[in-house]
Amino acid sequence: MRSIQSLEELETRHGEVQEARIPIAVLPDGTEVFIPLILGDGKESGPTLLLTALIHGVEIGGYDVIRRLIYEDINFNQLKGKIIAVPIANPFALGASNRFTPQDSADLNRVFPGNPYGSLSQRIAHVLAVKLASHANYCIDFHSCNPPSELFTIVPDIGNDKVSEMSWGMAEAFGVITVCPSFQTEGTFSDYLLSVGIPCITPELVFSRRFNSSSEVAAQGTMNVLKYLGMMDGELKPLQSITPFQGKMFYTVYYANKGGFVYFTKQVGDFVEKGEMFAAIKNPWDETIEEMLSPVNGRIIAYPMAGNQAVTTGDKIAYFAYQ
Ligand SMILES: [Zn+2]
Repeated sequence: MRSIQSLEELETRHGEVQEARIPIAVLPDGTEVFIPLILGDGKESGPTLLLTALIHGVEIGGYDVIRRLIYEDINFNQLKGKIIAVPIANPFALGASNRFTPQDSADLNRVFPGNPYGSLSQRIAHVLAVKLASHANYCIDFHSCNPPSELFTIVPDIGNDKVSEMSWGMAEAFGVITVCPSFQTEGTFSDYLLSVGIPCITPELVFSRRFNSSSEVAAQGTMNVLKYLGMMDGELKPLQSITPFQGKMFYTVYYANKGGFVYFTKQVGDFVEKGEMFAAIKNPWDETIEEMLSPVNGRIIAYPMAGNQAVTTGDKIAYFAYQ
């Protein structure tokens, strides 16, 4: 496998896929660690779309989306433009089956744009932001949410109307329910990309650590985005078995105040009124110690909770999408 320091080392090969890797670190035993790269050149010139997966090491669905797109779905002889694909953005977190980078205990998606002389996570962020994203016009950064959840997309609001409008256009073309966080999160890849004028969407596939049908649906959604961006010809295809795009929605999170075992009275996909109970926490003596009331009139899109109905104060219990 060819190792490169920058994308400029790869010449354009129209209609072809090139595989390479970019070094990011050296282990104590001298082993060099790389980020795998796939560069697909279209037959004609056009925009460059960056696809990234596994910034969080347990969220393997995006890897499968990229594999499907590059090796099965996209005909590079019909593509206008380029695809830069990063199927494993954080090989350290993946190897440890951990959301975070084990060496520095950092969340890679909170340290953008990184630092070439900083911690391991900051250096990986720098490679993604400066060495790779600087060559892209658009980005899709694939993540996953623990089940039960719906396949949804996040588009943060960074106050740049033109970049926002294009990102929401990509989200509508992708085709699933899309939400804008009602809270601020510092240092995410998407916030960085939007702040430097690169429209970006963050699909949240269903389930960490395992593949399922949401990666096939996300690959179809990405094919729709390629058409929306003029990189492929053809009509956008509606996706099967998902909650479709419903215009701009916001999302908010309910965090547990107490600890114990969660019992749900509403399911993912249900609508709830503000103040309506959707779940309760019981203690070991079967006493209800917290009745959870919806903070909004909206739709429950996930009960993330790390896949575990035993919770501690501060655990994320529910995501709500609302208008
Ligand atoms: Zn993630």
